[in-house]
This record gives sequence, structure tokens and C-alpha cells, in this order.
Amino acid sequence: MDLTFTPEQLAFRDELRTWLREHGPAGALPPEPTDEDEQWAWRRAWQRTLHEGRWAGVHWPTEVGGRGATLSETAIFFEELGRAGAPLPADVLGILLAGPTLMVWGDDAQKERLLPTILSADETWCQGFSEPDAGSDFGAVKTRAVKEGDEWVVTGQKVWTSGAQYAKWCMLVARTDQDAPKHKGLTYFVLDMEQEGVDIRPLVQITGHPEFNEIFLDGARIPDSMVVGGVGNGWKVALTTLMNERAGLAFFLQVRLRQQLDRLVAEAQATGRADDPLIADRLADLHVRTEALRLMAWKGLTAIEQYGQPGPEGSLTKWLWSETNQLLVQLAVDVVGSEALTGNAGWAFELLRARGNSIEGGTTEIQKNIVAERVLGMPRGR
Ligand SMILES: Cc1cc2nc3c(=O)[nH]c(=O)nc-3n(C[C@H](O)[C@H](O)[C@H](O)COP(=O)(O)OP(=O)(O)OC[C@H]3O[C@@H](n4cnc5c(N)ncnc54)[C@H](O)[C@@H]3O)c2cc1C
Repeated sequence: MDLTFTPEQLAFRDELRTWLREHGPAGALPPEPTDEDEQWAWRRAWQRTLHEGRWAGVHWPTEVGGRGATLSETAIFFEELGRAGAPLPADVLGILLAGPTLMVWGDDAQKERLLPTILSADETWCQGFSEPDAGSDFGAVKTRAVKEGDEWVVTGQKVWTSGAQYAKWCMLVARTDQDAPKHKGLTYFVLDMEQEGVDIRPLVQITGHPEFNEIFLDGARIPDSMVVGGVGNGWKVALTTLMNERAGLAFFLQVRLRQQLDRLVAEAQATGRADDPLIADRLADLHVRTEALRLMAWKGLTAIEQYGQPGPEGSLTKWLWSETNQLLVQLAVDVVGSEALTGNAGWAFELLRARGNSIEGGTTEIQKNIVAERVLGMPRGR
């Protein structure tokens, strides 16, 4: 792993920094609204701005509207976005998960129809994997799709579907063969969310925001042409989506963590709390963790460059990032005091939202299992 940037990478970074100064939070981007619908419109407009600058899908090939950037450049992109305090594009799920999955498994007609509207944020995506009894145990998916002529009729329930209320399309995994072994009877579909038979009900989180939803499917229809990667192949196609999920955000998240930590250190110094040795000790611990995460994110990238796909490092990063973020917001409460909880200091939302970090994208327990089995070579516990 070489952490020295090449002249090309430095030129890429400088071009982006210049662009972000003009268009990002320090330039034309208006401040983030607090209302969730307005926030969504704001992030969607931001994605359009990114798209106009050809920054929406930096790692996408140029033929489909991307910049054809290398992995290192993509990492630089996310680091710089974080450093500038700029938001992620609205349709992270489309850009990081659906698009790359379609590029691997989609047919030409699907790519032609679905890819262009992702980068422009004209049509956005949600991820319909989890069900009431199928989260960590993904093979337990019960939602059924039954073939009727050249259509599939879908019945079942999905849960925790982030952004479903805004999405045009859903990456839907459904059971198409009841008799096959549980991982073999699944198929990956693209479901049109704007149709009868799709009932979206918001679930309000502890933050007060209905970030995710339940989806009830009752006779929703999917044309044959929207099967991705072949009938019965859903497990393999979904793994492509899940691997991209763990690998994709590492850079942005670790830069955000660094920003939050810098803000907390400044507040601890301003209030004199940093002189308390116990607080100083916890701040130092967070500094070491944040720096370790930055290096691990680059190490994960080296693994992708060497082996062509994300390795188990992604599980280690996900686990440590969620734990560190939770420790950070807890320390913020101890540093700032009750102000942190009233919302005046801006930490209350972070504190409440961080609870979901160790669940979303695969729970900490599952990441630990992967690290134990695939990194440490320990025997399977189940
Ligand atoms: C903020 C947020 C956003 C989300 N967005 C989406 C989304 O957009 N789309 C989507 O499909 N899903 C989404 N999810 C769902 C998320 O992927 C699941 O919640 C997660 O996979 C865990 O599944 P579960 O909730 O069914 O818990 P379960 O799998 O039932 O787990 C319950 C507990 O048991 C533990 N456990 C389970 N199996 C094992 C095991 N083998 N070994 C050790 N411990 C185990 C778990 O770690 C957990 O602590 C989101 C979740 C959150 C919190």
C-alpha cells in the first residue's frame, strides 16, 4: 500500500477541490434544511449539480455517463466530499449499489433503460432485501413471485426500506421456487414502485424522521424483462449489491468521523473539558480509532485492486466505524452536557441516529462472525 498520490491523482484531487469550492457548501450550495422532504429535494438538487459537473458517478464508465475513475480516485472523491462538508448524492443506493449491480448482471436493455436516470437523479432507488424474518438470515426471504404469462406477480412484505417513499425502482429479492434449497430459490428483480399492489408505510425512527418504511406487496407486477441475472440466481446477484454496500461508503464515513471528532475536540477545548484527564483519554482513543479507520479504508482498497473484489476488510471497517461513531456521540454528551440532548448543540440527532449504525448494512455480530471465520480462520459457530 502506497499512500503517496501520483501527479495524476493530485491533479484529480485539485480539480475536484476547485469545483467543490465553487459549488459545495463554501460556494453555491444552500444550507441543509431540517424537514426530511425538503432535505431530500436539497440532496437531489445537489446530485443534479454533481451530475452536471460529471461528478455524480465518478467510478462509472464514461460510456454510461461516469468519469471512468480508478478506485483510488473514487476514494479521493469521497474523502474530498467529506472534507468539504458536502452531502452525499441523494441516490447513493442507485449510484453505489443498483448501478454497479446492473453493470455486472443486467442485460443491454436493462442497462439502456435504467442506468442514465440514476446519475441524473431523475429516478431513484431503494433496496428491498430485509423482511420481518429475513435480515441477517437473508436466505429466509419469504416474499413470493409467481410467473403469470410474461409477468411475475409479487406478494409479501419488506421492512426497513430506506428511501422507499421517494424511489421509482426497488432492487427486490423474492422467492421464485418454494422447493429449491433456501439460497437457490431466490430471484433478483427490478420492481416499479409506482403501481397498484405496492403499499409503502413509513416507520418513524427514534430521531423523529421516517427514513425507512415497510412495503406491503399484494399482486404487484414485474415484467419478465426486469429479472436481473436469471431466474433462481438472486443470491449471487444480491451478493454483488451487498459487497458494494460495504466497500462503497468507507471513505466518506471515515472523513465525516474525523470532522465530528475535530468539532468535539474544539468544543472540549473551548469549555475546558479537555483538561479532564478522563475526557482527554477518550478523545485520544477516538483519534487513534479514526486514524486506524482511515488506514484500513485504504488497505481495503488495496485488496480490491489486488483481488478484484472487496474482501472481509469491509466487515472490520463497518464494525469499527459504527462502534467508534457511537463512542463519539456518547462522549459528545459528556463533553457538552444536557445541551447535547436538547438539540441546541446539534448533537441530539447524531446521538439518536448513531444507534442504527451497528444494525444497518449488516449487524456488528454478523461482521464479527465474518472477521472470526474469514480473517482469523476460526471455526464456524453455527
Ligand atoms: C437505519 C437502517 C436502514 C436500513 N435500510 C435498509 C434498506 O434500505 N433495505 C433493506 O433491505 N434493509 C435495510 N435495513 C435492514 C438491515 O439490513 C437489517 O436490520 C439487518 O440486516 C439486521 O437484520 P434484522 O433486523 O432482521 O435482525 P436479525 O437478523 O433478526 O438479528 C437480531 C439480532 O440477532 C443477531 N444475530 C442474527 N444472526 C446471528 C448470527 N448468526 N450470529 C450472531 N448473531 C446473530 C443480530 O446481530 C442482531 O443483534 C436497515 C436497517 C437500519 C437500522
